Amino acid sequence: MRKNYLLTPGPTPLPPQVCQAMAQPIIHHRTPQFQAALKEAAEGLKYVFQTQNDVFILASSGTGAMEAAVINLLSAGDTALTIQGGKFGERWTELCKAYGVRPEVLDVEWGKAVSPGEIEKRLKANPKIKAVFTTLCETSTGVVNDIKAIGKVIKDTQAVLVVDAVSGLGAIDLNTDAWFCDVVVSGSQKGLMLPPGLGFISISPKAAKLMESSKCPRYYFDLRLAKKALQQTDTPFTPAITLIIALDESLKMIKEEGLGNIFLRHKKMADATRAAVCALGLELFAPGAASDVVTAVKVPEAIDGEKLVKTMRDTYGVTIAGGQSELKGKVFRIAHMGYIEEFDIIVGISCLEKVLCQMGYKFQLGQGVKAAEEVFLK
Ligand code: PMP
Repeated sequence: MRKNYLLTPGPTPLPPQVCQAMAQPIIHHRTPQFQAALKEAAEGLKYVFQTQNDVFILASSGTGAMEAAVINLLSAGDTALTIQGGKFGERWTELCKAYGVRPEVLDVEWGKAVSPGEIEKRLKANPKIKAVFTTLCETSTGVVNDIKAIGKVIKDTQAVLVVDAVSGLGAIDLNTDAWFCDVVVSGSQKGLMLPPGLGFISISPKAAKLMESSKCPRYYFDLRLAKKALQQTDTPFTPAITLIIALDESLKMIKEEGLGNIFLRHKKMADATRAAVCALGLELFAPGAASDVVTAVKVPEAIDGEKLVKTMRDTYGVTIAGGQSELKGKVFRIAHMGYIEEFDIIVGISCLEKVLCQMGYKFQLGQGVKAAEEVFLK
């Protein structure tokens, strides 16, 4: 027998209530029952996004919502500033290029947060920039960006602020309205404790104006259609009925716990994870800007990082994430996002210790678990 534990930055574990909701027989979407579920989901999402703006639900992964942002705001030939400090920042640049939008790339060293002052400088130097594409938590590096400070430097400019909050929404603070985020995109499989398959996107009045003038080709992701439908508590196409019903369950859990408590819980999980790996003599990849969503850890010199992740998963059933792109084999990532509690972290750290020990890494067994326990006892 073997039990499985999921400590990856998406998908994240599913609460039993969510699984149960998905096990119900399917219903038709043009019915009062589904409309009630959709209405509840649309309202609940406003709570999680901390916004009065409309939040649209798409049947796609998070990248679909990112693509929707680009094509609904811009036209070929427009200029956009893309912040690139990891794999997901790069995705904004790639999406812009795919539609003929000119990306002005602000390269940030992987492991560092972007400087809001640098964004301000770029906007002043180039008044043609129509949109700034940013990332809340850069999952590939574990970095959290200061969206609040970025919002301040963008709000009185011609540009709209677009935030990829696929990783982090519902786990760490992102106050869409108070932080002047014009467009926020997210996905279902992370902080929202659902399987992959839903994309979300909120649109501010400033962004809605761009939506009317954008000339990018679009059909399925045309948010003008989504807006018209939402006004009738409907969707333009067949929605992911089962996932939306499950979303109502997870939103209920989120409201019950309260966003403030959820943010504190994530901070505690992250503090414990960071304390544990440091107690093992390991080094954080992004010590200056570490997110409370996922912790990236440098693989020690003599250790095969890919083998470490594989052994934890295939031998012991504990799935963490390896490094992506240029960080392949160089970091491993332990996520503490969504339906995660302190003993999930203890299991993850304990397994990490066991495999590191078997691989010949020198440290005092139990020190990681001890450090995590000490954080939890505070
Ligand atoms: N942005 C970030 C920050 C992410 O972590 C991810 C998923 N790992 C995405 C975008 C892409 O989302 P999806 O895989 O759901 O398309």
